[in-house]
Amino acid sequence: ADEFQHAVDALKASKEVKEKLNKEIKRFRNSMNSPAEVGVIRTYIETMLEMPWDKTCKEHKDIAFARQVLDEDHYGLEKVKERVLEYLAVRALTKKGEAPIICLVGPPGTGKTSIAKSLSRALKKPYVRISLGGVRDEAEIRGHRKTYVGAMPGRIIQNMKKVGVNNPVFMLDEIDKLSSDHRGDPASALLEVLDPAQNSAFNDHFIELNYDLSKVFFIATANILDTIPPPLLDRMEIIRLPGYTGAEKRMIAKQFLVKRQIAESGLNKNQISFTMAALDELISYYTREAGVRELERVIGSICRKIVRKVVSGDSAAEAKYKITPKEVHELLGQRKYSLDEVKSRPARGCAIGMAWTSYGGTILTVETTMMPGKGLLKLTGSLGNVMKESAETAFSYVRAHARHYNINKDVFEQNDFHIHVPDGATPKDGPSAGITIVTALVSLLTRKRVRPRLSMTGEITLSGKVTAIGGLKEKSVAALRAGIKTVIMPKENEKDLEEIPEEVRNSLEFIMVDEIEKALPIIFGDEGKEEKC
Ligand code: ADP
Repeated sequence: ADEFQHAVDALKASKEVKEKLNKEIKRFRNSMNSPAEVGVIRTYIETMLEMPWDKTCKEHKDIAFARQVLDEDHYGLEKVKERVLEYLAVRALTKKGEAPIICLVGPPGTGKTSIAKSLSRALKKPYVRISLGGVRDEAEIRGHRKTYVGAMPGRIIQNMKKVGVNNPVFMLDEIDKLSSDHRGDPASALLEVLDPAQNSAFNDHFIELNYDLSKVFFIATANILDTIPPPLLDRMEIIRLPGYTGAEKRMIAKQFLVKRQIAESGLNKNQISFTMAALDELISYYTREAGVRELERVIGSICRKIVRKVVSGDSAAEAKYKITPKEVHELLGQRKYSLDEVKSRPARGCAIGMAWTSYGGTILTVETTMMPGKGLLKLTGSLGNVMKESAETAFSYVRAHARHYNINKDVFEQNDFHIHVPDGATPKDGPSAGITIVTALVSLLTRKRVRPRLSMTGEITLSGKVTAIGGLKEKSVAALRAGIKTVIMPKENEKDLEEIPEEVRNSLEFIMVDEIEKALPIIFGDEGKEEKC
């Protein structure tokens, strides 16, 4: 108890904290005979003494240094870098300014976690990270009351204690994977953490006193926005990372991934080099992802195979390996992906749409078929409710406008229809495939086939209007990656074109439409052969 008392006297903290500690030390002295109680009070006092109440690390305002560090660690990601530099600039000028609460949203492997780490180096501040994936208990965030057996502070306070200063970079990983059940709602506890109006007095059940989190630089990451509770979303500044284009991946591979994987495999740069053509081969035919994680893995895999050759004495010790596309094939085997699926016209009744998932954008084929029956509509492919309704709307539109497309209306009474969206095991939802489903159905019924290398996105209304969709940026990056040349998109999304990376904008032809009727002749191309069904 005396030791504790000395520590409290020397502690840099507010009067309130010291008073609370003095009271607990008094209780500690008086409860010497009850081991359970002593244990709890002891943990409490120790935790309180280790908390960084007034311990702040120096604020560095060297913008040039920060820029250099951020560029050294990551290629591109301009928006994130700029936001951090702006923050530093405001700080330098005003000597204050609330730390921003940034949320990086993007597919896996786009550098969210690693840029947060790099931020801490640029700001010269220590860094802590908690993963919120699967956290469903409010007490994990806010702690248990001392009366609980085995009570502990929540993860926020535990990590503040661990990091030892009250202004670190604090990363909240996977904020979109929070869930809630009968054990309380962790999102509401997080709200208190992330709300600048409340976080100067964050209340942890265990420490019982308010803790000031307002100097912490919070940075959250998420794959998708949809599952983040709206009040939380409202408190954060969202920065979207749409995934990398082929050219960006090339630069990242050349400047970062190859060097890192060569070093990790124990080789040196005199023993192995990758040609640009080999990197392009890996990017186009061995990986298909929005980020660069798989790319890093295949580069690593090639390095390890070379290490094996070197170690097993298959080659002269000083031999230098130059990795070209030929070596890639030899070492990794057949190409894993091809552009064949989009090169030719899709089959009758099929059309290529674009989707946006937590793994980034992707293209997907909508398939339709019909068989003798009595006008029933069947939908498969793990479709969510919104997508099902969208398919029904598309079907009704085609049925109602059959005459316009030269479709005999009897086919609807004499056949059953089936719409399927492979692959069947991946859940899909959203209204943006409306235009694709109409196209596939019209193709089925008129025998026209969609132009090759064309994909489309757009919600449709019953009257045939094509309306706005989300995620155009992610979708078009993915379309280019998959070998698409022409994208049909809603006119209402025109403003989003600005956000699309220049490389993608220059390589794809975007055709804006507002009515399905006008879109279909473009989709089928002039040479579309017309036959009556
Ligand atoms: P996320 O958290 O978004 O899933 P990570 O931060 O784990 O992704 O990134 C995966 C890997 O890719 C890391 O090794 C990271 O350094 C690298 N990486 C991603 N983006 C870039 C970039 N722009 N420049 C350099 N390396 C990058």
